[in-house]
Amino acid sequence: MNYQPKKLIKDIDPNDVQKFKESFNINTKVLTEGDEGYEKSILRWADNAIKKAGIVVQATCLEDIVKTVNFANKNNLDFATCCGGHSTSGSSSSEGGIVLDMRKLNKVRVDAEKKLIYAQGGALFGEVDSEAWKHGLATVGGIVHHTGIGGLSLGGGFGHLTSKHGLTIDNIMGATIVTADGEVRELSANKNEDLFWAIRGCGINFGVVYEFIFKAHEQKEVFAGLLLFPAEKLDSLVEAFNLWLKVRGVDENASFLFNRFPPENKPTIGVLLFSNDPSEQVFREKFSLIYKCGEPIIEKVERMSYPELNMLVSQTNDYGDRKAMLNAQINCLNISSIRKVYDSYIKFTNENPETSQTDIVFDLHSAEKFAAIPPDSTAFHPRKQIYNVVIIQRWKNEHDDKIVYNWAKSIQNILSKDGDETLYVNFVDTSDYEEYDEKKLKNGWGENFERLKELKRKYDPNVFFRKGAVIFP
Ligand SMILES: Cc1cc2nc3c(=O)[nH]c(=O)nc-3n(C[C@H](O)[C@H](O)[C@H](O)COP(=O)(O)OP(=O)(O)OC[C@H]3O[C@@H](n4cnc5c(N)ncnc54)[C@H](O)[C@@H]3O)c2cc1C
Repeated sequence: MNYQPKKLIKDIDPNDVQKFKESFNINTKVLTEGDEGYEKSILRWADNAIKKAGIVVQATCLEDIVKTVNFANKNNLDFATCCGGHSTSGSSSSEGGIVLDMRKLNKVRVDAEKKLIYAQGGALFGEVDSEAWKHGLATVGGIVHHTGIGGLSLGGGFGHLTSKHGLTIDNIMGATIVTADGEVRELSANKNEDLFWAIRGCGINFGVVYEFIFKAHEQKEVFAGLLLFPAEKLDSLVEAFNLWLKVRGVDENASFLFNRFPPENKPTIGVLLFSNDPSEQVFREKFSLIYKCGEPIIEKVERMSYPELNMLVSQTNDYGDRKAMLNAQINCLNISSIRKVYDSYIKFTNENPETSQTDIVFDLHSAEKFAAIPPDSTAFHPRKQIYNVVIIQRWKNEHDDKIVYNWAKSIQNILSKDGDETLYVNFVDTSDYEEYDEKKLKNGWGENFERLKELKRKYDPNVFFRKGAVIFP
C-alpha cells in the first residue's frame, strides 16, 4: 500500500505550529510537553497506550475540531482523537503527532419529551447515564461508567440494556461529524445517509464526532449485583448458565468472569447479575438457577439506579498498569473449552504472578433485539447470537508484553472453535494489525467491508483517520 507516511510536529515549520497555537481562543488549551496539564492530557486507561504527543488540543467548540483536522491534514500529521482514552492499542494517542482531546466537550442535554439525548463527542457514558437518569431515562451504553462514548459508540456498543434495546449504534438517531476535508456534516436517517450508515460500526474511520443524538428509553431502578463463587463451582455454574440461557428474557443479563481475588489472589468465579426490575423477588426468581449452584463466598446484590449499575465494576477496571484486550465471540457455552481456558488461566497467572489481575469475562447478552436488524443496515455486521468473551490482560513490565499477548492469543484460539472468526472491532488491538491484514479486518465488517472501502475512498482517500482498525480504500 502506498500511502504517504505521517509526519510529526518536529518535522514541520515551527512558525506554522506557533501560528496554529495562537489561533485558538483563550478557553482552548493547546499543550506541548512541559506545559501544565500536558502529562494529565496524555494519560490513558492502559499505561502502554500513553504516548508523548507533539501537541494536544483540548477542544472546547466545534470550530476547534475543524481547525485541528484542517491543520493536521494539510501538514499530513499523525493524528489521533481521544474521548475516554480506553483503547488499549493506543489508537487515541500519538507519539510526536497531534492529539485532539475531546474530554472538555462533554456536555449532555436531554429532550425528555422527544426522548432524545444530545451528548458531545468527548463525554463519558457515566455522564450520559446521570443526565438521562434525572428524567427517568437511559440509553444503551457501556457497563463501566468511565468509558468514552466516542470510541464505544462508533464500533457498535454492548451494554446491560443490549438485550432489550439493541446495540449503542441501534440507538444513535443522528450525529454531527467533521470529516477529513474539514467539513461539518449532520448525519441521520435522511441526511448524509451513507456516512450515517458507516459511522454505526466503523465510525473511527470517517470523522470526528462532535455530537451524538441517542434514543432514550424509560428506565426504572434495577436489582443487580456481584457474586463470588469458589472456583470448584465452575462446572455447575456453566451448566446453570446454559439452562438459564434457554429461559432468559430480555429484561435480564448475566456475565461471569475468571479472576483472582485479592489480597491472596485466590482464583474465583465472579458473576454479575442484572434484572431490569427493582424487585428483589423478581431478581431471585430470574436467577434461581444460578443460586442453586450453592452459597457464594460473597454476595452483594441490591436495588439501585441505572447509573449505579454501570459503576458496579468501574473500580475493578481502574486506570494503571499495562493492559490489552483480546476478544473471542462464541455462540455456546462449551464446558470442555471453558475448562481448558480456566486451566490455562490458572497456570499462566500462577507462573506469572504479575499478571494476576488479568480477567476473562463471558458476557451473555441476548441478541434477540440486535440480530433482528439486517446486517447490512449499518456498518456493524455480526448481527447474530454471539457472546463476547474478553480477555482483559493486565501486567506490569514491558518485557512481558509478548508473553502475555501470546498467552491471550492461545485463549482466543481455544474459544474460536465455539464460534467463528467474527471480531468486535472495539476489542481489536493494533498489535494484531502491525501489518495490514485485510482478511482479519473483513472478520469485523463481513459483507459490509467492500462498501466501507468505497466510502473511505470517497470521504478519506488519503487515510487521514489512520488509527485503530483502519480501512484502506
Ligand atoms: C474498562 C473497559 C470497559 C469496556 N466496556 C465496554 C462495554 O461495556 N461495551 C462495549 O461495547 N465496549 C466496552 N469496552 C471497549 C470500548 O468500547 C473501547 O475500548 C472503546 O474504544 C473505548 O472508547 P473510548 O472513547 O473510551 O476510547 P478512546 O481510546 O478515547 O478512543 C477509541 C477510538 O475511538 C476514537 N474516538 C474517540 N472519540 C471519538 C470521537 N468523538 N469521534 C471520532 N472518533 C473518536 C479514537 O480516535 C480511537 O480510535 C470497554 C473497554 C474498557 C477498557
